Amino acid sequence: MTATTGRRLLLVHAHPDDESIGNGATMARYAAEGARVTLVTCTLGEGGEVIPPELAHLTADRDDTLGAYRIGELTEAMSALGVSDFRFLGGPGRYRDSGMMGVPENDVPGCFWQADVDEAAGHLVAVVREVRPQVLVTYDPDGGYGHPDHIQAHRVAMRAYELAADPAHRPELGPAWRIAKVYWNRMPCSVIEAGLAEAAAKASFPGVAQPADVPGVVDDEVVTTVLDGAAQAGRKTAAMTAHATQITVDGAFFALSNDLAQPLFTTEYYQLVRGQAGPGEPEDDLFAGLAPDAAPAEEGTR
Ligand SMILES: [Zn+2]
Repeated sequence: MTATTGRRLLLVHAHPDDESIGNGATMARYAAEGARVTLVTCTLGEGGEVIPPELAHLTADRDDTLGAYRIGELTEAMSALGVSDFRFLGGPGRYRDSGMMGVPENDVPGCFWQADVDEAAGHLVAVVREVRPQVLVTYDPDGGYGHPDHIQAHRVAMRAYELAADPAHRPELGPAWRIAKVYWNRMPCSVIEAGLAEAAAKASFPGVAQPADVPGVVDDEVVTTVLDGAAQAGRKTAAMTAHATQITVDGAFFALSNDLAQPLFTTEYYQLVRGQAGPGEPEDDLFAGLAPDAAPAEEGTR
């Protein structure tokens, strides 16, 4: 979709599917409102498990073709959300999925966990200076739930936020750009507890997730910003469904490869960690308090 409002939102995620689960409604809403939405995904998710039996051969221990397949899933998901600008950090396959914390894949050269943070951030600085987003969304320092690629995505995104604003840092990557507001993905404790209780009562999956399985859970008062994406429920559901190797969607619930039900939230939650909060407690808009930017993002600068 062509940007028309001058609002520009950048999201940094670890694997294809994280964006749709965590921010699908937010991305669809801002895209529909005419904002430029840019997604940077740091790995292809090569290390993921595969749910459909007929696709089990894609996994890293068999054909090792899951990464390429997941580019297709991500493409379909972005089509569902109305987002046309999605990229992989350093290009597709530059950084490989590191697997869950503690597995041998953490030590493989070329995996994202082994990446030099400043070098990886350089790829993102180039995107920041090109796109000039007012808002950045990424994970908290624990990556939401301790996955190495999520932790590293946090480090790289926060480092790029700093470096992009420093005119002395690699001027060949473009003019310095200060992102006005940075948010981390969050899930209020009371919301996930209620949602999981509902899943236990109504969902059709064999089991139900625990709060510890859900990324970014915090005490309710940590949440600064609540995005109502109810109008985008269909788009978010379609995007999550597109990630079929990773997610099974059933109505208002979904499960990952562990078959444990979770609620599919169309309200999404954030913690403002850099920049000034806008009006409202909580904020209901990631761009709240920012001066309207009349000039649409420049096209054709890629
Ligand atoms: Zn992930």
